[in-house]
Amino acid sequence: MEKENRKNQGYGQKTWKPVSFEDLSRNRKTNRIIGMTFPRSDFNLGLEPSILTVLPDGDNVSYDLYNRDYNDKDVTFYLCSVYISGYDEFVKWALKHEKKKIVVGGYHPTTFPEDFTRYAEKVVQGPCDEIFDTIEQEGQIVTGVTKHQRLPRRDLYDVTCNQQIIPDKLQGDIVISINTSMGCNTKPPCDFCCTPMMCPKILAKPLDLVSKEVEDLKKYNAKFLFIRDENFTMQKDWRKRLEVIHGGLPTIKIYLFASANTLNEKSIKFMSEKGVYMICLGLEDPTSTYQKNKHLDESIRLMKKYGIMTYLSFIVNPLKIIGKEAGDAFYQTLTKRLEELGPEMICGNFLMPFRGTKIWDEYYAYVSPEDYKDYDSKTPFLIRNPVVREKMKFFMFFYQWKYFNSKFYNEQVRKFAVNDTLHLRFAELNEKFTPIYERIWDVRA
Ligand code: SF4
Repeated sequence: MEKENRKNQGYGQKTWKPVSFEDLSRNRKTNRIIGMTFPRSDFNLGLEPSILTVLPDGDNVSYDLYNRDYNDKDVTFYLCSVYISGYDEFVKWALKHEKKKIVVGGYHPTTFPEDFTRYAEKVVQGPCDEIFDTIEQEGQIVTGVTKHQRLPRRDLYDVTCNQQIIPDKLQGDIVISINTSMGCNTKPPCDFCCTPMMCPKILAKPLDLVSKEVEDLKKYNAKFLFIRDENFTMQKDWRKRLEVIHGGLPTIKIYLFASANTLNEKSIKFMSEKGVYMICLGLEDPTSTYQKNKHLDESIRLMKKYGIMTYLSFIVNPLKIIGKEAGDAFYQTLTKRLEELGPEMICGNFLMPFRGTKIWDEYYAYVSPEDYKDYDSKTPFLIRNPVVREKMKFFMFFYQWKYFNSKFYNEQVRKFAVNDTLHLRFAELNEKFTPIYERIWDVRA
């Protein structure tokens, strides 16, 4: 029977042509479609996984938060989204399942498709929201098809798992997210950024689909909404998009990514009137200059004027801070910039060279497959010495903790210890790092 099913579904043919959803849904038990994300979702930091956009309609479809093993007989196919740090976990899981039933996509398969041809029948590159059209294409490595006609399958996910670390969000508050576009048009792209690899030009959702999605989001009664577009204000019609979102969800607090070069007083004022409470900007490496950050200081000043918070991420290149002097100099420069800009939230990330970016050629010799599991931006894997790594992790935390607890932050920016998820997360990290702090001063590596 199973053999017969597979034959009907085209598994025996050279080109894999799965049957349509109508055919699949006739027998739910043997026609399950299961979505998974590698690495598995983190309940403390997560957001709706992007695989929900890819999962097709139908009650034979599910999303497994735990990446469990299944009896392949009960499953038509698995849709697996893999990020670099989930590669090992994916390989272990895939080796226990039939290759012919595995479809894989996401950042890692897009940039390293050859790493997946052993484990998956189809390797999807780039964004995708029409899985059947995508996998019906000839060949093992195919390009994702995006038609912008469907809503993400949020019904397969519990949004209370979304525990974003943001100022003013209390633990019980619900956060939801929306993508109104994918990709980034910045030319040349920022030399470290992998977004243009996934999607080199903006793919914008039609406004009526955004409106339908906003309608659907009303039922969650959420307090915060994250617009996940890589560079929201780069879209020509971003004002209309924001109006649609704010119109449908007038009390929700919105935060979004933008780059300083796309902001001015008029746009910042408009955002403050349309529910935007925080804008995420990238300071990046404070010792370098970036075209997109030419107006960073002015943009943040205007955001403060109109009551919009700043979320500032920064990048630490571990190869530039080896040794006490270099480390001190870097963090002094960073601290000075933070005191000039006064962001309400900061987030440090270690440099991670992505294949296909400008910096890849410079750094690929330092990256090996054993480092994939550490592509979490919190591990300086470009450094081989484990003691130095540990010290660098500690100092990255320490300088953020110092900023949040400084007199400057608490008197001139906002109060830190208010039991929101930002405060609680850093308090938790402080507990984790305190024993390391005790040890670290005895280490002379
Ligand atoms: S960092 Fe932002 S602006 Fe630069 S390429 Fe990436 S998404 Fe575009």
